[in-house]
Amino acid sequence: MTDSMDPRYARHLPLEHWGREGQEKLARAKVLVIGAGGLSSPALLYLAGAGVGHLTLVDPDRIEVSNLSRQVLYTTADAGRLKVEAAKDKIEALNPGCRVEVLPQGLDEALAKELFPRFDLILDGSDRMDCKATINSVAHAFGKPWIYASVSAWEGRILSLDSRRGDSACLRCLHPNLKDGQIGNCELQGVVGPVVGAFGSLQALEAIRILLGVSTAGSRLLSLDGGTFTTLEHQLKKNPGCAVCGSKPATQDADGEVLSLSVGDYQKSRERYVLVDLRPETERENHPLPSGYTATVWGAPGTQEPIPQFPEGKTPLLLCRRGMMAYRVQAELARSGVSAVVLRGGMEAWNREGQS
Ligand SMILES: [Zn+2]
Repeated sequence: MTDSMDPRYARHLPLEHWGREGQEKLARAKVLVIGAGGLSSPALLYLAGAGVGHLTLVDPDRIEVSNLSRQVLYTTADAGRLKVEAAKDKIEALNPGCRVEVLPQGLDEALAKELFPRFDLILDGSDRMDCKATINSVAHAFGKPWIYASVSAWEGRILSLDSRRGDSACLRCLHPNLKDGQIGNCELQGVVGPVVGAFGSLQALEAIRILLGVSTAGSRLLSLDGGTFTTLEHQLKKNPGCAVCGSKPATQDADGEVLSLSVGDYQKSRERYVLVDLRPETERENHPLPSGYTATVWGAPGTQEPIPQFPEGKTPLLLCRRGMMAYRVQAELARSGVSAVVLRGGMEAWNREGQS
């Protein structure tokens, strides 16, 4: 835990919106950083320097000499080491009060669902579009603010998103066909180190603003062409037909990436789903399903009850009290090869949003 009295934070105390109270907020903050490359290098240094109390890093790669022009956390002597291990050493040397956890693996959907609920904010320092697509859909489903950035050749862009804001767009609104390689590839197109560094620093700044409560993630896209030194800014609009955040019933998605369904969308297409009630008996008795609805009751993983046989052609729709446990069960089922959808907000949302 970082200490707000530590003299290393002396320059924060006079700052408007920061001060001792802000320093304590940062000490309690938990930030998940995906990727430990060029964007994350300055971002991690500034977050640790700012006094963020807990950082978890996810990256499977080892340091190569070709990374060093932009991955300023590392030196020539680090070549061959796991990035997350070398990054942890550098961060702890900078700020021993900062707790650092590392996962030397790639981010997939199951891992994202396991990790995201534990963090206040997710910082995307990845360079793969499939990874960004996973962060986008899982952060949207869990209502976690996240900060996207990407750099290709001379150009960079940054966007912060938060699905808890009703009007917030998502990355899929901007790129309806998110695919790996769609946004530049360092090997093929080259990349300018200082542009990467600038955007990693901007990500750290935006993270600090969100953690201090100065700003909420605002769907504002900022881009810089480092070749011509021109910037562009625009407010990203929500796409009503977006496969991740739009209002279309989830089952119309062509790519099966949907993770959750609103109560309203379920009611419009209930024949496609088998409702799976994960709640304990007392809760099922106190808050029964609306009349006309039935569910398969399942104690879920951890209770040793086997996965039920779901009817052919129907997708399991997981119901719990608020939706959180359902996401964990969804991740467990995915590991057993069963794809299930979560009823967003659980029984509480169902009671709130009307029982039609
Ligand atoms: Zn969207």
